[in-house]
Amino acid sequence: MTDQSVTVAPIGHITSPFKQKFAIPRQPNLANASGQVVLSADFTDMSVFKGLEGFSHVWLLFLFHENAQRGWKPTVKAPRLGGNATMGVFASRSTHRPNGIGMSVVENKGVSETVEGIVLNVNGVDLLDGTPIIDIKPYLPYADCISTATDNLANYAPIPAREVKISEHVKAQLHQASLRHQDLPELIVSVLRQDARPAYKHKLNDDPKTYWVTLYNYDIGFCVSDATVIVTEMKVL
Ligand code: SAM
Repeated sequence: MTDQSVTVAPIGHITSPFKQKFAIPRQPNLANASGQVVLSADFTDMSVFKGLEGFSHVWLLFLFHENAQRGWKPTVKAPRLGGNATMGVFASRSTHRPNGIGMSVVENKGVSETVEGIVLNVNGVDLLDGTPIIDIKPYLPYADCISTATDNLANYAPIPAREVKISEHVKAQLHQASLRHQDLPELIVSVLRQDARPAYKHKLNDDPKTYWVTLYNYDIGFCVSDATVIVTEMKVL
């Protein structure tokens, strides 16, 4: 690396339902997951968001802070290729990158002022709870949406869309939980339909092992039976 280091200070952090990396969607807008970008105490003036209501979506630039110490390699295993084939780091959206910067387009759900500070509400996040945000920019369809763009991997390895069934006893618990987190039932389905298991297990249509995913303060247990994801357990943390 050349010696042209710059220091970037986060402008805030995001709160999201994803308390661990397992089962976070690979890209934004694949699950109905809401989040709040909480600006740091340095930002006391709401006018930083003046005009943002005119944009349906925003770019969030952020740091893959969970990987900060793990370094990077020129090639990475591509989960969408089953986990063994490799791609160049700059041909991938890997979280292990020279500067550890991520970018996600999310839905703009408006700005509010809370006890925590100035907040931008968003939907469709693929970020871990607590991720440092380094910038926010409006999404510009005329420039950012390329209708002729291609992605060969999308044809080769589409995102799974499995049916998700919730066991009767979990439904009762979920009813209680949704009094606090209204979005939880839809969140569980939209996260699990993508088959959160490691890619090499995706071919297994019967997999009795219980996998656990943490959403908000709940551990959700699921297995796969007859090609369907079955939510079998739910525990309050
Ligand atoms: N949309 C972003 C991009 O393209 O830069 C992120 C794509 S990356 C493949 C998405 C994955 O990043 C998620 O599935 C999750 O496992 C991981 N992730 C999310 N927030 C993270 C964080 N703060 N630190 C490390 N990994 C994170």
